[in-house]
Amino acid sequence: MKAATIGFPEESRRRLEFPFFFLKGRLPALSTCQVSWRMLPGVTLTTVDRECFEAALAEARKGLEAGGVPVGAALQRDGGLVAVGHNERVQRNDPIAHGEMACLRNAGRLTSYEGTTLYTTLSPCEMCTGAVLLFGIKRLVVGEATTFAGNLNAFKERGVEVILLDDARCKDLMAEFQKRCPDVWAEDIGEAPSAEAERVI
Ligand SMILES: [Zn+2]
Repeated sequence: MKAATIGFPEESRRRLEFPFFFLKGRLPALSTCQVSWRMLPGVTLTTVDRECFEAALAEARKGLEAGGVPVGAALQRDGGLVAVGHNERVQRNDPIAHGEMACLRNAGRLTSYEGTTLYTTLSPCEMCTGAVLLFGIKRLVVGEATTFAGNLNAFKERGVEVILLDDARCKDLMAEFQKRCPDVWAEDIGEAPSAEAERVI
């Protein structure tokens, strides 16, 4: 599947000021940063969307620094960040600790997911897709679907709004990881590891 058309209008650079969310005492205040945005034609994001997506990307980078799979996620409701999380499959030796799952776990029990948006740096796998559909999250912002396509149509078929950003930073992060750790990546998406990796496991 061709994940997205590439061919951006000129790159726009803007400064986002966001000392914004103080969430349930669990999250640090987000720092001010300069962000370069390359938007797909027709994609519009609110300031809150951009800030939350940056929070997800920061989580992905945190995961890579810790030696894990660089996928990050954030959950937003009513303009506030509910939780963030990143893939900790390697770090925790936990096969279900994908970025989206970690974020949902960090959010704790919610009686309803109405009005929430989930931001993820990578198109979700089948497990995370199932969680989004199960909990009735109706809006999804995806960093990229090039290095892993997932099945974004599954969301659309169930009435979930999907916004695909085709973010170069997410693609670079994941491409670098896939090149560096192909066996860990294969494991993450349920593909057979190489014979060499199997011997180690
Ligand atoms: Zn997943």
